[in-house]
Amino acid sequence: MKHVEPISFVPYPRLFKTHEEEYMDIIRDVLSRGAYIMQNDLEEFEAGLADYIGVKHAIGVADCTNGLLAGLLAAEVGVGDEVIFPSHTFVATAGAIKLAGATPVPCDIRPKDGLMNPSDIERHITKQTRAIMPVQLNGRICEMDEISAVAHKHGLQIFEDSAQALGATYKGQQAGTFGDFGAFSFYPAKTLGCFGDGGALITNDDHIADTVKSFRDHGRSTTADPVLWGGNCRLDNLQAAVLNFQLARYPQTIERRREIARRYRDALQEIDDLQLPPGPDGDQDNFDIFQNYELQAGRRDKLRNFLSERKIASMIQWGGKAVHQFAALGFDVELPSTEDFFKRCMLLPLNSYMTNAEVDRICDAVREFYGT
Ligand SMILES: *Cc1c(COP(=O)(O)O)cnc(C)c1O
Repeated sequence: MKHVEPISFVPYPRLFKTHEEEYMDIIRDVLSRGAYIMQNDLEEFEAGLADYIGVKHAIGVADCTNGLLAGLLAAEVGVGDEVIFPSHTFVATAGAIKLAGATPVPCDIRPKDGLMNPSDIERHITKQTRAIMPVQLNGRICEMDEISAVAHKHGLQIFEDSAQALGATYKGQQAGTFGDFGAFSFYPAKTLGCFGDGGALITNDDHIADTVKSFRDHGRSTTADPVLWGGNCRLDNLQAAVLNFQLARYPQTIERRREIARRYRDALQEIDDLQLPPGPDGDQDNFDIFQNYELQAGRRDKLRNFLSERKIASMIQWGGKAVHQFAALGFDVELPSTEDFFKRCMLLPLNSYMTNAEVDRICDAVREFYGT
């Protein structure tokens, strides 16, 4: 039998290998300077990120979860407050709310794209509701006009989990800029992925920015004395140097991801059993960056087996459960669209390191499964 190369879900070694020499130069340079913590590469990255998004402050943090937590604490969200979030998300969204002392309240998604359903927010609003935390999932921004209208009507704040959406826009506006703050993740599998954990909080609010800057560094400000209770969630200078290199190439990264999404769509759109995510050119209001390619398939499990036999990896996010379905977390709510979504959703590999030949092999296998 002919040997077939496995297609992994994220080819992690390629993250390094595609620019190995440049990365080794960067690492050697940073380490030679002894520039480990809170050095100029971090400052440069923060300035570059703020400039790329067009926002006043970007603050490097250890990871997105800590960014969300720091932002919530800076906005004085805590005990007695409720924050509404879509249950189709990584548990980190709810975890940050919980760790801030507040209560995470899951709401439903809309079938069109699996994102927060603006019309399911109101029924979860109580006297305790402080804020809405939309999640810009899979590199696509929620219906922010409608979500903002609900927030405005009830006097709620908006905080964005934009972990998966750096560079995505909605009606021309960047992910992370719709509320009081947004947070990004630079986990290696994210569209801008460093060699470990990394994250950033962005905001136009000076008070939130100052508070988060102190919070990430033991509550200290520019003087050595603490000005508030803080912890340690700084972004490593070495990771910031790696991110500087990647940010300079980020528009090409997005373009490559959109190209792969287009290739998937062209090859698979005729298959009745599949509901593909909105295409890269399918929606006037949204510019999606395709952090993931999440589709729905009626015959999902059989399809995944078929792909796996052909050494093609696929994935179901978060072990196949929405946040409210994890028994240990103690939620007691039914969210029909989310629950239905999780019966059919799966991810095909999509990353900027894939070759067209790999994408085509995946498409051919899917088409073969459906006999088209
Ligand atoms: C990755 C991710 C996070 C967490 O990011 P970390 O940097 O790993 O803390 C939070 N929310 C969503 C939607 C994510 O995809």
